[in-house]
Amino acid sequence: MRPRLFALIIAISLLLSACSQRATPPAELPTPIAQFTRPPEKLPNPTLPTEPTNAPELELPAAPENRTMYDLDVTLDYAQHAVSVVQRVTYFNRTDTAMSELLLLVPPRYFAGAYFQGNISGDMLGQSREDGIQTMLSLEPALQPGASTQIQIIFTLTLPNRQGVFGWSNMQTNLVDWFPIIPPFDTASGWRVNERVVDATNTIVGEYIAAESADFNLRLRLTGSAQNLTIAASSEGIEQPGFVEYQLPLARSFSLSISDQFVTQEVQHQGVTIRTYVFPQHREAGQAIIEIATNALDMFAELFYPYPRQTLSLVAADFLHNMETDGMLLISKGVIDFYRDAPLNNLTILVPHEISHQWLYSLVGNDPAREPWLDEAFATYSEALYFERFQPDHLAWWWANRVEGFEPSGWVDSTTSIPGGYTAYRDAVYLNGAKFLQSLRELIGDDAFFAAAREFAFENTYQIVSETNFFSAIRMHSDADLDALLRQFFENPPSLN
Ligand SMILES: [Zn+2]
Repeated sequence: MRPRLFALIIAISLLLSACSQRATPPAELPTPIAQFTRPPEKLPNPTLPTEPTNAPELELPAAPENRTMYDLDVTLDYAQHAVSVVQRVTYFNRTDTAMSELLLLVPPRYFAGAYFQGNISGDMLGQSREDGIQTMLSLEPALQPGASTQIQIIFTLTLPNRQGVFGWSNMQTNLVDWFPIIPPFDTASGWRVNERVVDATNTIVGEYIAAESADFNLRLRLTGSAQNLTIAASSEGIEQPGFVEYQLPLARSFSLSISDQFVTQEVQHQGVTIRTYVFPQHREAGQAIIEIATNALDMFAELFYPYPRQTLSLVAADFLHNMETDGMLLISKGVIDFYRDAPLNNLTILVPHEISHQWLYSLVGNDPAREPWLDEAFATYSEALYFERFQPDHLAWWWANRVEGFEPSGWVDSTTSIPGGYTAYRDAVYLNGAKFLQSLRELIGDDAFFAAAREFAFENTYQIVSETNFFSAIRMHSDADLDALLRQFFENPPSLN
């Protein structure tokens, strides 16, 4: 490897902190980490299945019935950073007991002065009370099992000037986790909500929103003086007179990224439109992103099942982390800035990582605060699988550079509240998580490992998984003794029978 390229890779190693974000933008690039050349103890065996599949057309598990529908009329003034929204939520009581309350989770309220609540109305609404980002609505009369109710929420956003997934910069406006949602509920454990965790360095540790599979319809109107806006979104927009219409069934949320500077490129691949939205100086990298994404979609089609949506948008982000959303990925400009036409670059690591989340996060949900390893460990290990298949000569480099150089420690089943903040979280969940999956694969063998991974993803599509689902899938394909391995990596090792 050329020394200069190696130095560049070192200098942005912390940009590999996929799926994290800062509560406030960092003042400068993170300190380079210089010592990570120790090779992994044992190199993986590159035998990812590569045979073409002649499977019949994909039939995913039945979608949940009576799922929540979000319908949003959105007006955006890009130049004024102002958004006004009329949102209707249709919610079904899918439990077997009457519900007397409904919880709204309002993520924008984490940003002071960003969210202004207008009228909330509905046939059954009584009192409401706000607590942090939660608004509890009482229902009068109670919502009976199987019955539905519709509420209308009017709100406006004054977007914060911050480089992040929610806010605006002079390069773009990002709308991720930007409207009220109703979190998962079950009678035994109540509403599934988590607090956002911010560590001592003001870095947000992981994610906190667990969301059901729901349906989204959105109509976006642009107003104000901004010209030549390009809109990236979680699904394909259909131009209508005066607005753009979007539909996205069976997703966890709906996100948008808008810029007056985006350059777009696209390819059609296996029925999917893969589209990149990059800033003008990143044109060349945009093509590279498409190539990596095309390979990654092929790989995950075999690992899990073919990507079931029509579009996948990969968007340059004017901030220094990366984030997955349904149908759309935000890839840090810091990663794209350093793209060079060589396999050893961070695009090759992070694009497959973020694409894996289209399955493990979006199609197969999990609680990202309580059990983040269920998506992040596999997302990190997906990077190794990508190198194993497409850049096998550099797989050892991946393990040394991405994992072993950090000498990771910590329990794989840590939560986002792990002592030590973001760094401890990354080391335990992402890096030790990848080591755990590699060790598991070596223990049970490739056939069982990949069959279990496929089964875990397929059988749990549209659900919210727990570790029980993961280890059930493993047990379906292997009766190997996992006790020692689980004790090595898990603080609370599951007991497998
Ligand atoms: Zn991730």
